[in-house]
Amino acid sequence: MALIVQKFGGTSVGSVERIKNVARRVAKWKAAGHDLVVVPSAMSGETNRLIALAKEVQPHCDPRELDVVASTGEQVTIGLLAMALMELGLKAKSYTGWQVRVLTDSAFTKSRIISIEDEHIKSDLKAGYVVVVAGFQGVDAKGNITTLGRGGSDTSAVALATALRADECQIYTDVDGVYTTDPRLVPEARRLRTVTFEEMLELAGAGSKVLQIRSVEFAGKYKVPTRVLSSLTDPALPVAEEGQAGTLITFEEDPHMAMEKAVISGVAFQRDEAKITVKDVPDRPGVAYAILGPIADAHIDVDVIVQNVGHDGMTDMTFTVHRNDYTKAMKILKEQVQPHLKFRELSGDERIAKVSIVGMGMRSHAGIAAQMFRTLAEEGINIQMISTSEIKITVVIEEKYTELAVRVLHKAFELDQA
Ligand code: ADP
Ligand code: ASP
Ligand code: MG
Repeated sequence: MALIVQKFGGTSVGSVERIKNVARRVAKWKAAGHDLVVVPSAMSGETNRLIALAKEVQPHCDPRELDVVASTGEQVTIGLLAMALMELGLKAKSYTGWQVRVLTDSAFTKSRIISIEDEHIKSDLKAGYVVVVAGFQGVDAKGNITTLGRGGSDTSAVALATALRADECQIYTDVDGVYTTDPRLVPEARRLRTVTFEEMLELAGAGSKVLQIRSVEFAGKYKVPTRVLSSLTDPALPVAEEGQAGTLITFEEDPHMAMEKAVISGVAFQRDEAKITVKDVPDRPGVAYAILGPIADAHIDVDVIVQNVGHDGMTDMTFTVHRNDYTKAMKILKEQVQPHLKFRELSGDERIAKVSIVGMGMRSHAGIAAQMFRTLAEEGINIQMISTSEIKITVVIEEKYTELAVRVLHKAFELDQA
């Protein structure tokens, strides 16, 4: 008997029929003797609808109130799923994030989980209940409702699995695993049977939204066995078969697999990016901090950063942010940074995208970057910025070339071939 946390994404609970299917799937695992904690997202499209409603009322939404609104989608699905389970004769009970007490910090709309109180859940499991916990939401120390950022139910599930020391966290979604790239963009993409935690972290960070990056961070830090699998298969599929399906995130590279493995495991992309350039700032210690410190204080994530070689005691700095944070970042630079730093010019571009290749094999193969740059050059795609890690190369390009770049890189690194 195992303790399993199962997360079902928006499409998987997108209609009453699908919620009933989820209940059948959960019941099957329960019948096989396992303890289940189930974490549903809101019905697909619902969180978007709620955020749009809030914006209609207040265009620059108050973040605290936005979380009050955005978190409600999950409250609907936990209740419905608990009822669907009861209809199948199971004992089930639902909890919101604040009822469990998923304690987070107070960074509304992108809060981080600090701790989870698991007493209720544990005693309910002992009493034979399937426990249904709302994804995406928590509560801060002052009792304010918080949310964990878009796609945050993944993180709720992995964090619960960590807190409960679950045997496995199963992330059910609308694809049957992690692919070499988004299969919606490249139909030739192939499913990976396993992916290392490091690769998954880089893929998620580079835009593969199949898992929210924070969930992968949790999985890696606490070594939670995590599997991505499809909720759209036949719910009656035997547990033994379903338990081996999808993509398993591994923590150590199997040496046999490593030898056979392609150099590159996947191509990721992120469209909603923006680039900001601060021109002619004094080239002296503390300047990068003076620019990026206030941005970080506003909880804005900065990704690719390039500082030009100095000239006449001056330099330029360029960095990327998520497009949603662009206006806010520009405002901070104008109002908080300019008065001290007296930079000459501020410019921005909201039509850029990031494309990344990821793979453990990069560590032992030379020439991967050159091959990537040649492939893009042959298509006439200009590279605006480059950043690398040990197992990832990211380029910033004009947004309109995203799809082309992903396709040609996927082909050039032979990811379409088994
Ligand atoms: P859920 O609602 O279940 O959380 P998401 O839409 O957040 O589902 O994530 C699943 C989607 O992620 C897939 O439908 C697919 O389009 C997209 N995706 C992006 N990159 C990948 C990848 N490398 N492998 C699989 N899916 C990917
Ligand atoms: N419902 C939330 C969202 O749409 C959380 C999630 O689906 O993971 O972002
Ligand atoms: Mg998701």
